Amino acid sequence: MTDLKPLIYDLRQEDLTDWAARNGQPAYRAQQVWKAIYQRFIQSADEITTLPKDLRETLTESFDFVALDPVRSLESADGQTVKTLFKLRDGQFIEAVLMYYDERRTLCISSQSGCGMGCTFCATGQMGFRRNLSSGEIIAQVLYYARLLAESDEQVTNIVMMGMGEPFHNFDNVMAALNRLNDPEAFGLGARRITLSTVGLIPKIRQFADLNTQYNLAISLHSVDNDLRASMMPVSKKYTVDKLLEACRYYVEKTNRRITFEYALIDGVNDSTAAAEALAKAIRGMICHVNLIPLNPTRGFAKNGTRADQVSAFAQVLERHHIPVTVRMRRGIEIGAGCGQLATEVENGG
Ligand code: SAH
Ligand code: SF4
Repeated sequence: MTDLKPLIYDLRQEDLTDWAARNGQPAYRAQQVWKAIYQRFIQSADEITTLPKDLRETLTESFDFVALDPVRSLESADGQTVKTLFKLRDGQFIEAVLMYYDERRTLCISSQSGCGMGCTFCATGQMGFRRNLSSGEIIAQVLYYARLLAESDEQVTNIVMMGMGEPFHNFDNVMAALNRLNDPEAFGLGARRITLSTVGLIPKIRQFADLNTQYNLAISLHSVDNDLRASMMPVSKKYTVDKLLEACRYYVEKTNRRITFEYALIDGVNDSTAAAEALAKAIRGMICHVNLIPLNPTRGFAKNGTRADQVSAFAQVLERHHIPVTVRMRRGIEIGAGCGQLATEVENGG
């Protein structure tokens, strides 16, 4: 992307202040620009009408203010889920989803275009890895929806990094993005309203634990039987279930925060009551929460989601073991809101 201008959302506040100083501008000008980006969600320098015209021109010449081109948007029949496919400046695709849950406005955003982890049941995994997103490209997804919601006097209330990509495979850019989204001087969303989800990259889980942030952490577990898990999630060949759970215990001890386990229920694969018993046993005593979600069918994986009665039976086993459990509905399934599904359709000419 060498021929592209720097993306304004890639800058830290101090970078913008330095840029202003180098261009003979007082620091308060940088402040005005910063606030316009993160609190008014402007998408061009010309929208910052409080700036002198020549400064607006210099900004326009120096930076790109548009990171994402919304190519296609789909709304679920109930209007509660809106999924958008974006084209990045170099032509790669990502997706982000806005979900309306009661008073919440939750964004599900991407950390990479594609993903290199190869989970067999996942549409993004089936695409393969394209590239990491920069911190600014991650932030731009949030600002896009913040601007949209602001039109009806609404706000983004929660962010989950559960779109395309493995956030811990792009650790530095993801943390830089979250820090600006959290920073009261920038976007200012509370850390407890931000959730990271990982396939289980153990060294990064430990590194994340040591940072001791207030962000929530979710682990995509899906099975505690390592052979089964590795057959669906190649990462488990290297980072086995035992070692993964050890790292999870380290995280909980270090941060004193509850960890979430994501468990996609696949009909006849990992959804038996025996599998539920094994799960309960494996995570016993940990401060945790289990999120059950019936598998969202994808083109490249010939299995179905577990039926409602077996989902309940699985949940009941966990409840008997006093493990907090929630069942996530398959929201927006008809619009392919499962991660990566829209991008794969577009690339396949759908
Ligand atoms: N790479 C990260 C975050 C993005 S995936 C991770 O794997 O955790 C977000 C969640 O969607 C993960 O829990 C993932 O396992 C789950 N997921 C992927 N494909 C799915 C599908 N077809 N049905 C249900 N959940 C799926
Ligand atoms: Fe990547 Fe997560 Fe999909 Fe696995 S589930 S392929 S880690 S995006």
